[in-house]
Amino acid sequence: MTQFKYLIIGGGVAGTTAAETLRQSDPTGSIAIVSDEPHVFYSRVMLSKPNFFLEKIPFEQIFLKKESWYTEQNITFLGGKKATGLNPTEKTVSLDDGVILQYEKLLLAVGGYPRKWDPQKIEGADKQGIYNLRVLEDAKAIIQTIKTAKSAVCVGGGFVSFETCELLRMKNIDTTLLILEPYYWANIWDETSGLIVEEYLRQGGVNILKNEETEKVLGADQVEGIRTKSGKELPCQMVVVGIGITYPVEPFKTCGLDCGRGIKTNEYLETNLPDVWAAGDAAEFYDVVVGEPAQAGNWVNAQTQGRVAALNMFGKKQQFRMVSFYTAQGFGLTIAFVGDVRPLPDRTIITRGSKELKSYGRLLLKDKELVGATLLNRTPEMAPISKLIEKDVDLSAHHAELADPNFDLKTLAPS
Ligand SMILES: Cc1cc2nc3c(=O)[nH]c(=O)nc-3n(C[C@H](O)[C@H](O)[C@H](O)COP(=O)(O)OP(=O)(O)OC[C@H]3O[C@@H](n4cnc5c(N)ncnc54)[C@H](O)[C@@H]3O)c2cc1C
Repeated sequence: MTQFKYLIIGGGVAGTTAAETLRQSDPTGSIAIVSDEPHVFYSRVMLSKPNFFLEKIPFEQIFLKKESWYTEQNITFLGGKKATGLNPTEKTVSLDDGVILQYEKLLLAVGGYPRKWDPQKIEGADKQGIYNLRVLEDAKAIIQTIKTAKSAVCVGGGFVSFETCELLRMKNIDTTLLILEPYYWANIWDETSGLIVEEYLRQGGVNILKNEETEKVLGADQVEGIRTKSGKELPCQMVVVGIGITYPVEPFKTCGLDCGRGIKTNEYLETNLPDVWAAGDAAEFYDVVVGEPAQAGNWVNAQTQGRVAALNMFGKKQQFRMVSFYTAQGFGLTIAFVGDVRPLPDRTIITRGSKELKSYGRLLLKDKELVGATLLNRTPEMAPISKLIEKDVDLSAHHAELADPNFDLKTLAPS
């Protein structure tokens, strides 16, 4: 049985940053990364960005580490191998090729997976030409398909779906966006926000069908169209599905690892099992800024958690504390999320701006303090909002100013 001082499952940004941080702290301790993807560390973010997607940059630029980096750093990279089980008593992880690895300290940095269509529920959901965009192979397949496709359907709202619509339109592909809800991203924000996004999508040539669900995928082996539950038929050569995220925690759950949607941790990113940490999209961590469990799905959060988890694995006691953010641009619109944007029942929401102004923000407050914001064409407000959240500023006397779109939030933010 091969033993490693530090064993990391997942070679994305959280896992790789953790390995890098561990090596900086501990020059000699053995480190291994197990990744079910065959590739060395690459930028998942770039998969949906025009430069890569439209092949404007050399393909190799997607890679953020070279193979030689792992050798130089003395980090064992076990690519193309999936961790299938965890035994916390023996301190072992089993892989899908039968190999068993022993660890002293283990990090689970397994990320998130786009939810797939269920062929039991949607007839023909396994046809060729149906894509989820998560890994390099997905992007490569989509890049090939858009070379000949004339029309496409994107299913579901969200950041990646918004970006995908723009990429398809850049290739002059007739694009229809199909959403189950009455407006774009209805589960996360209000109708005004949804309608603003839809206006930009429409201006960019995207046809939007709302309150619609796919019933059947048409075609023989290859997608030729989809039929909705209301009976509309949409001819297309490709479908990109973005209907939510799941977390690949199944292999680790049976051994008593405490999981919710993701892997539960405290503010030090420690799980309930001894010497086991979690970081990145899969970590359902205790967010000390908001004072509640939370889960984030963005690059900088995953990178920072990878670093903090590694420091804790090395023996430093470091809290994870961060106001996370996510931005996306497309069709001339900038969408930004700051902090915790979950529309929970105990949040007070103050809006600033309007659909007419094409500039609209929603500030989410818990008790007296700001915890998050969604911003449309108001990106410069990200910095003061971040500061207001981070510094727990009491805003109870300032609701009128917060609602005024011309009020400069910097004046409330501590320097
Ligand atoms: C197309 C796309 C565009 C995005 N754009 C942005 C953006 O613009 N800005 C932004 O902030 N974020 C963006 N994101 C989100 C961002 O990429 C993620 O938040 C980030 O990659 C999470 O890093 P992670 O290390 O936690 O997980 P991941 O990057 O998902 O890495 C986890 C790795 O673990 C592997 N794994 C899972 N289970 C096992 C197992 N049992 N055994 C072995 N390996 C396993 C996975 O296959 C994966 O390789 C985007 C995501 C996608 C898919």
